Amino acid sequence: MLISAEGIVLRQRKIANNKRMIVIFTRQYGKLSAGTSINEKSRNKSALALRPFTYAEYDIFKGRESYSINSASVKKSYYSIGEDIERFMTASSFIEYLDKILPDEEAMPGLFDLALDFMESVARTNARPDTLLYAFIVKSLRMLGVMPELKCCVNCGKPLEAFGRSNDGKVPGRLKLFSVSSGGVICEECANREKSDPGALIYEPVFDIIDVFRYFSDKPISTFEKVSLKQGVSDMIRRILAEYTGRYLGADVLGKSNELEVQ
Ligand SMILES: [Zn+2]
Repeated sequence: MLISAEGIVLRQRKIANNKRMIVIFTRQYGKLSAGTSINEKSRNKSALALRPFTYAEYDIFKGRESYSINSASVKKSYYSIGEDIERFMTASSFIEYLDKILPDEEAMPGLFDLALDFMESVARTNARPDTLLYAFIVKSLRMLGVMPELKCCVNCGKPLEAFGRSNDGKVPGRLKLFSVSSGGVICEECANREKSDPGALIYEPVFDIIDVFRYFSDKPISTFEKVSLKQGVSDMIRRILAEYTGRYLGADVLGKSNELEVQ
């Protein structure tokens, strides 16, 4: 059976007989692995569509047990991603993240559209591109059903309203601690109890973690093309998201790229 799908390439490797196995995130069928004998070195339209950071249309033969790509054509090439090292690193982490979180052959059109929005924005931004990746990851957590608890203490369930403001009215007395191990914001009492557990992983960010997560979750990705976070804030968000995605999705791609940045 012949099928047609829009998609982006996540990964490829050589297999026997000059063939390659290509992993694509498609809008219609989710993550697919398909073989192809299209020569990557050639400059025909099908080869161009198999390059990284390209949104393309694929004509795929669906056999009983495998898929193979007959031809492909570029819908849009985000080549400017490759022209800047920071954009390239960020977009590479994004691709690796998608590859890790996507189940095989399960359509996720909402996440696919979000992924295209991300590629558009990262190709266009003049600010630090890592903010776009944090926004993408937080939005994906909601779509995948593993969004952290932000409305109450994740442990005792005491609602946000119960934490009001402190007496001088300056410091928000809201839930300030974030427990990766419990999966959300946590009150001080519960945090103190949880800390006795050696596996506890609790952060006390210098910024309002609830506002930051909501901001990432609620605003369109393009909003973040103009947002460069302060280094300290960016580092903390990166650490929290790295731990969080590692624990709940088995997909920590942020920890690794951070090490690369230090070099
Ligand atoms: Zn509590």
